[in-house]
Amino acid sequence: MTLLEVTSDRVRPRTPSDEHTPKDILDFEFDPEGKLCHFVVRLGNVPSSLETCAGLVARHRVTILSGFHQKFSDSLLWSFFADFAEADISPSALASEIEFLPSSQSVRFKTATRGLLIDSFHFPILSSGERSIILTAGSLEAIFQQVRGVFGDGASARVLLFEMGKAAGAAMMKGVLDRLGPSFVRDELQTIMSLYSSSGLGRLHLVSLDFNQETAEVRAYDNFECATFKLSKVPRSNFIRGHLTGWFSQLMGTFLEVEEQHCVAMGNPFCYFGVKPMNSVGP
Ligand SMILES: [Zn+2]
Repeated sequence: MTLLEVTSDRVRPRTPSDEHTPKDILDFEFDPEGKLCHFVVRLGNVPSSLETCAGLVARHRVTILSGFHQKFSDSLLWSFFADFAEADISPSALASEIEFLPSSQSVRFKTATRGLLIDSFHFPILSSGERSIILTAGSLEAIFQQVRGVFGDGASARVLLFEMGKAAGAAMMKGVLDRLGPSFVRDELQTIMSLYSSSGLGRLHLVSLDFNQETAEVRAYDNFECATFKLSKVPRSNFIRGHLTGWFSQLMGTFLEVEEQHCVAMGNPFCYFGVKPMNSVGP
């Protein structure tokens, strides 16, 4: 029997937030008092090119606010938001100095409009190499509320949200299987579950997994779908429950069902999902 106990309370941090810090993506900054600027620098992929460029920026007391860098076969891209409020150089002068670096290939920059800086250099957004779209949790919850407003807070809305989640979960797992292969995914599923937190859906932990019995248990913290409900008498997850249904059904190549056994909407500290074969008898 393939039984994997992947998480225990003994090794789990006492407070789940110990594990994670927020990840701010490079898309929006607003500071009317600052002198904000967005730089996109392409450097030769040679040792210390990024370090040299960052050192030049720091020497001019430019405050780097956020950003990312990406390595390509022949170059290195560094994109960052910066504040020039304390700097001893203008953005255009800094761009000129960066252009003179031996490893420099290109420099682009854009200054903020009345303190507002929104990324207009990068498109599309890629996650695992696939085009991705960012929705705030508030936007997604507003969509769900609209669904409940149109269909009522009953079976129709639950089924619709569940099926939406199921399709999304199956698509995500299919992409993972195509990219990593079934054997790797089965062996490293605990690590791969981090896709839920890396994509912002929630912090999901695989508690147990049994491929032979086709069962699993998942503990979910910060499930956005349930956090807005208070004192519910029933579990409130439909989209994430559907997502896990599609995810595990795609993984195991069979039809599974997922039951939400505990829910933050009912006052529990986390949502808890049990995965089992469809129409199986038992808890
Ligand atoms: Zn819940």
